[in-house]
Amino acid sequence: MFPKEDLKTYLKAHVLVFFVHNIFKYSLHQVIWPLAAGINTMSKNLKPIHLDYSGAGYSPSALVKRSIYSASKQADCYPYEGYDMLHEKIAEYCKTESRNIYATNGGDEAIELLVTIFGRKMLVPIPTYNEYEYIGKSRNSEIRYKNCLRDDNSYSLNYTKADLKWATLVWICNPNNPTGSIIPRRDILWVLDNTDAIVAVDEAYYEFAGNSVVDLIKKYKNLVVLRTFSKGFGLAGLRLGYMVSDSSRISSLKAAAQEFNVNRIARAAGIAALSSLGYYKKRIASMKRLRDEFEQFALGLGIYAFKSNGGFAFLKFKSIAELEKIYVGLKNKGIFVFKASDSEFTGLKGPYMRIAIGNRGDLSVLKKELKSLMQKQKLSDGKLR
Ligand code: PMP
Repeated sequence: MFPKEDLKTYLKAHVLVFFVHNIFKYSLHQVIWPLAAGINTMSKNLKPIHLDYSGAGYSPSALVKRSIYSASKQADCYPYEGYDMLHEKIAEYCKTESRNIYATNGGDEAIELLVTIFGRKMLVPIPTYNEYEYIGKSRNSEIRYKNCLRDDNSYSLNYTKADLKWATLVWICNPNNPTGSIIPRRDILWVLDNTDAIVAVDEAYYEFAGNSVVDLIKKYKNLVVLRTFSKGFGLAGLRLGYMVSDSSRISSLKAAAQEFNVNRIARAAGIAALSSLGYYKKRIASMKRLRDEFEQFALGLGIYAFKSNGGFAFLKFKSIAELEKIYVGLKNKGIFVFKASDSEFTGLKGPYMRIAIGNRGDLSVLKKELKSLMQKQKLSDGKLR
């Protein structure tokens, strides 16, 4: 039928096709798919949990979501109108007048303005939030760091009358980030009574702590309180903050800022958030319960937990070596937290860790891993003895 040579070529070609086909089939089923599935499950299991930057762990209220959507329809227009509405709403929330309010592009813009205008000589309590120092350095501020964290784990202001005379800008973070400590009102009053410098009280975590000195702006013209919608209201991604102060101080700060510093969407979200206080109060209350439960859990594992008044927990391990083991162990499981040496904080040295509370699900994954890492740590401690 076939000439002999043709038959050979025909058979060779078929055998080749058979082999290539089956090798491909085999590798597809035995190698490529399992590998892809493995990578897929691995990436699912390793979905990172971010408890470093403190997100709220809950979504915006329905009204906030709707307002964001409708403001987005005017995204093509400069936000020249509408600041007054936001200022009025914030003033109502702070029980003051709108001429005492200035909304900013996040609390960080408020810090930037204060440092740029008044920060020639700054007093910075340590450890604290790093932005005062960070902006200060870029503006060539002279900075005096005053240690406020004591060996007994208490945190209180440590400014002397001489410091207060020297400074042009005095920082107080209340509650303090990262220790979560409350600065008593009498200590803030003592500072205000002993300085002509601008006293900036950072109340970023006000919604968690409930302590405020906003009412003192009438008496003390040098007091500026700053706040943010990033924490209790969970709008960090939109960048909205504000300052509360004497009206002439507000005018001078406003004059130094960009004309359109707060965008339409952030403004609409801020107004809506302040009209959804009931929703946020519930969320904040449950986050505080999670935080308190977590602190008890950490104490039970033999880790010292500070009594935090912010949206985070602050832990102290027995040693830097222990901190590092736990930090790396968590990181290897895709759980990210802050440790003392991170640039988020000024003047924090030692075996400290800050954990944002986030939501119940993320926190329970963290608790499980923390427990197992601490058990391993105890076993290896035992072996060393
Ligand atoms: N102050 C403190 C103490 C903070 O922790 C933060 C945010 N990490 C801010 C101010 C600034 O907040 P934002 O710029 O997100 O409004």
